Amino acid sequence: NAPINLFGKGEEGKGADSKWLLGGKGANLAEMSSIGLSVPPGFTLTTECCKAFCDPNKWNGEIHPDVWDATLESLKTIETKMGCEFGSDSNPLLLSVRSGAAISMPGMMDTVLNLGMNDVVVEALATKSNNPRFAWDSYRRFLEMFGNVVLELPRADFEEEIDNIKFEKGYFEDSELTVEDLKEVVAAFKKVYEKNSLSFPLDVYEQLRLSIGAVFKGWNGDRAIKYREVENIRDLLGTAVNVQAMVFGNMGQTSGTGVCFTRDPNSGDNELFGEFLIDAQGEDVVAGIRTPLPIADLSTAMPEVYKEFNENTKILEEHYGDMQDIEFTIQEGKLFMLQTRNGKRGGGAAVKIAVDLVKEGLVTKEQSISMVLPEHLDQLLHPSFSDTESASYKASVIAEGLPASPGAAVGEICFTNEKVVENAEKGIPSILVRDETSPDDIAGMYSAEGILTARGGMTSHAAVVARGWGRPCICGCSALKIDEEAKTLTIGDVTLKEGDVISLNGNTGEVMNSKIAVSPPTIKGDLQEFMNWVDDIREIDVLANADTPEDAREARKNGAVGIGLVRTEHMFFEPERIGQVRKLILSNTKEQEAEALASLLPFQRSDFEGIFEAMDGFPVTIRLLDPPLHEFLPSLEDKEILEKLASELSLSMEDLTTQIKDAAEVNPMLGLRGCRLGITRPEIIEMQARGVIEAALNAIEKGIDAKPDIMVPLVGKVEEFRNQAKLIRATADKVFAETGKTCDYRVGTMIEIPRAALTAHLIAEEADFFSFGSNDLTQMTFGYSRDDVGTFIPEYKSQGILLDDPFVTIDQEGVGSLVKRATEEGRKVKPDLKIGVCGEHGGDPRSVKFFYETGLSYVSCSPFRVPIARLAAAHAAT
Ligand code: PEP
Ligand code: MG
Repeated sequence: NAPINLFGKGEEGKGADSKWLLGGKGANLAEMSSIGLSVPPGFTLTTECCKAFCDPNKWNGEIHPDVWDATLESLKTIETKMGCEFGSDSNPLLLSVRSGAAISMPGMMDTVLNLGMNDVVVEALATKSNNPRFAWDSYRRFLEMFGNVVLELPRADFEEEIDNIKFEKGYFEDSELTVEDLKEVVAAFKKVYEKNSLSFPLDVYEQLRLSIGAVFKGWNGDRAIKYREVENIRDLLGTAVNVQAMVFGNMGQTSGTGVCFTRDPNSGDNELFGEFLIDAQGEDVVAGIRTPLPIADLSTAMPEVYKEFNENTKILEEHYGDMQDIEFTIQEGKLFMLQTRNGKRGGGAAVKIAVDLVKEGLVTKEQSISMVLPEHLDQLLHPSFSDTESASYKASVIAEGLPASPGAAVGEICFTNEKVVENAEKGIPSILVRDETSPDDIAGMYSAEGILTARGGMTSHAAVVARGWGRPCICGCSALKIDEEAKTLTIGDVTLKEGDVISLNGNTGEVMNSKIAVSPPTIKGDLQEFMNWVDDIREIDVLANADTPEDAREARKNGAVGIGLVRTEHMFFEPERIGQVRKLILSNTKEQEAEALASLLPFQRSDFEGIFEAMDGFPVTIRLLDPPLHEFLPSLEDKEILEKLASELSLSMEDLTTQIKDAAEVNPMLGLRGCRLGITRPEIIEMQARGVIEAALNAIEKGIDAKPDIMVPLVGKVEEFRNQAKLIRATADKVFAETGKTCDYRVGTMIEIPRAALTAHLIAEEADFFSFGSNDLTQMTFGYSRDDVGTFIPEYKSQGILLDDPFVTIDQEGVGSLVKRATEEGRKVKPDLKIGVCGEHGGDPRSVKFFYETGLSYVSCSPFRVPIARLAAAHAAT
């Protein structure tokens, strides 16, 4: 590919499909030019250049001479279009140099503005603009940015110099600095270079060469690497570099600059949402130093510009079919569109915008599906504060800031990144409290429940990042005084310290000094409508894993069309029941066993009945007992329980202790589990099968359409399945004979042992359905204990041995190939064989896509993940 792409009004421009090569920004600039928007002219050096630049075997940190020649050639085109000249002593052109990868990484990469400035150019600019203050102000800004971004001089060194000068003169604001003062600042800034044994390059071409190199180098900087890690961004070539003519928003009262979303990124409302500053440059808005004006005020400040801007936002939305996040500058009454990209938005806004865009005819339902991400739904399905009208809620409000990112967050106050991360490791929820956040705070922001800042607007770093990640965030809470040394925050007369619990309402901007109760989310309104479209589009069913009637009802509310897994051992964890299970496991006589089973049967029957009722008309897959036995045995420390059990089983304490010790296994996950228990203790299976069938008959009697599927766990050999299926069918026949009634039921198996996957063709002969137990299948295929992976998986991920945790996202290469093979072999025997998955992977979007592509009939996941799996299933099908 050509290393450079030109853009600007009149250039042909490449479309968004060249994003991987031009980066998001570069592709958009090209596209904006091609639809006739007034984009300042420029050119993009491709991501391929970045890759070659970073490769020690290619350009090895240098710009290739041919590419440099092409850069100079392109620069000539900009000069012609702008009618000025780079480095000129009368009519100078200044440039911006910005990074832009294929996936947007806000605040992560470096930008250099006002490039092309030196001692001669500054005078020329002063004369040309008739605004020496602006010229010298731009020069000092450039010295600082270039020094900091390109030569990595500490920003604090520059801040110190300017603060000293302001202090000497008795100023508070930068704007009080006169031209003469700014000249002093420039001289002081040059000394910062000298102090660090560097000299500021007066040659403007040298400035350009170094800046392009710095952006490429930034791709492998710590911040960028961390961001890609957290966001799971891979397989990119690198960043593109966009070199563009500068236009100035700081040329007096008819100039300005701003950022604007075409719709409200919090509520999704169809109205412009943005901010601007008069007589300012872009970074002034984002940095949160001056408080910007709402975009609506532009209509009175500059009515003509506002009208044109409004028209442009409509063109952009129509063109891209999505809400846009725009940067613009007004230079002496003329509007320039600097940048546009699909705007980041909160979960609620994502759904509303998707639904509205369909209704406005801008996108199809299929297109709208892809605009809502699993993370968006995840946010919406998070709790919110239950009663914001209550007196106790109102009484605990201590401050109000800007509602920068919606949601409810409750956690301990933390003033540092490190503290948040430390808390997260211990499972303690935190609220990160800062004056303002910077890209260095990424790790803490990611691990925090919510973010609270004293400064910054709705488009500040904290706001943008928090919205992207769905963290509730309150910005610009100016009443907040933070003492980082003492680790306290003060609001009025309330002082709180690190570790105190506060609550944030990201929808209203309210800060509460107590733990506020939260309530679960509901699906209604736009979300309901959107989820209906999701169901129309998806081609794979979503079932739920549920062990109780309540969970089953929750699952149905969330759109599950059946239960893919009832873990019957979970029904025994209640105190009343566990005693009977212990008796069952440790029973020494047939009578004791029968007694324990007889007392467990009614519990199981009534739970099954409740689940059938909740799932009326949908299949309910009940798995027979699969406990690693140790999970049920009492601890040898627990004397009280042991004594009771000993007396119930007529055993001495000594004998009971011995029996418990004997039952303990060295490797319980590979021990007497699943069908191995069923085969050695058939009475248990008879009890469970009876429970299922009796419950189904009772439910049917009440007019409920009960559809029981009985599932055998941990099968490795077809003989195991045959044994259990025979027992189940015989038990069902017995119940039918006793009651004189019958019902339909199916007997299937889990495929969760590699041997079962490898012999699926044999098992399919006998089984009515398959369900992949992807948790155990992963455990046994990798040979990683699913309960102990925390000790090495993080290290494996950081060393790149594993890209993902295979217990979260299915390992397609290994475990996935077993799933594929078993599916194919099973369907060769029974073409209509129902095949699903019920491990945790059933709720993971990337895994859902794989299961869909493999031809599974359904995925089953926790009730609260069901909407996300439905969405992932629809994404997979579009
Ligand atoms: C599985 O192994 O994937 C499964 C669903 O069963 P469990 O997690 O109960 O072992
Ligand atoms: Mg399992």
